[in-house]
Amino acid sequence: MKRQRTVYEAAIESGVSRRDFLKMCTALAATLGLEYSQSKQVVHAMENGSRVPVVWLQFQDCTGCSESFIRSSQPKVESVLLDMISLEYTEVLSAASGQQVEDNMKQVLKDYKGKYILAVEGSIPEDDYLAVGGKSAKETLREMAEDAMAVVAYGSCSSWGGIPGANPNPTGAKPVTGFINDTPVILVPGCPPIAEVMTGVIAHIITFGKLPELDVFGRPKAFYRHRIHDKCNRRAYFDAGLFVESFDDEGAKQGYCLYKVGCKGPTTYNSCAEMRWNGGVSYPIQSGNPCIGCSEKDFWDNGPFYTRRAKIPGTQTTINPDAVGLGVVGLATAGVAVHAAGTVVKKKLDDKRGENE
Ligand code: SF4
Repeated sequence: MKRQRTVYEAAIESGVSRRDFLKMCTALAATLGLEYSQSKQVVHAMENGSRVPVVWLQFQDCTGCSESFIRSSQPKVESVLLDMISLEYTEVLSAASGQQVEDNMKQVLKDYKGKYILAVEGSIPEDDYLAVGGKSAKETLREMAEDAMAVVAYGSCSSWGGIPGANPNPTGAKPVTGFINDTPVILVPGCPPIAEVMTGVIAHIITFGKLPELDVFGRPKAFYRHRIHDKCNRRAYFDAGLFVESFDDEGAKQGYCLYKVGCKGPTTYNSCAEMRWNGGVSYPIQSGNPCIGCSEKDFWDNGPFYTRRAKIPGTQTTINPDAVGLGVVGLATAGVAVHAAGTVVKKKLDDKRGENE
């Protein structure tokens, strides 16, 4: 088996200073949710751990996930690509093309059996709809997944079927879990996902030598354990019963809660509100747009966007924002009822997850 350079060796060879290397490790520790004092563990792992070979396949996708990934800021993508991973095959970022890259993919199977990560972007259609290098999407996926250390379904299309799998699903699109039985699959849903989640998964593997802890659906718990609603910067307005009623009203100018204009934050599990986007600058809700729940299963079919859900999918529960408002004007009973309703929502979701577990 071919020896991979360590992350540190690769960084130094590519001209990264020791200082910048340490900064990258500290950023990774923060992404992993570790204490500052634990960043030493990350430094040790990056100094001694080999780079992870990655094969990145694209099927029925819009390339938005790759676009998001190359905008990773913690650490920056050039560090990820050059230092942490050895990107052995990618259609978007590869300088080579055609037979040369297809041969390289076959070489990975020989050189890194059981040691590489297979990242998959896009859903998998029926045979007639997609072939790359003379093979159907299913064939390529099964072949490359068999000897992978793990498969990372990167984005909502490969995690759940996504937009290509939305009703009426003309190509018979399925998620990767429909084809893989023996290799661990990590779901990183989102349309697109937050780039730092992918780097966090890879950093976790290098640092701890094992896959991150997953929830019942196969998502890394570190990044999908909270609802957007739990960490939302507008949550105080929700609790106070102050809502945007239309996009250009006074409430919108004041930054009130977006629930009444269709925010799906109460039913969406993701890290947008904690990690934010573009280097932590903002995220959709902070910028005035309701969460569309893009990391949840069937998010497209669960639309239309910008309309309040009559019912939380999978439960008999509704959140009545008008009742929340009553709490504000001193009707304590209504306030208690609303908080109870909120608790019921959370409990039902937790119960549902528990049942699936
Ligand atoms: S409903 Fe949406 S905007 Fe309002 S607090 Fe929850 S997540 Fe934030």
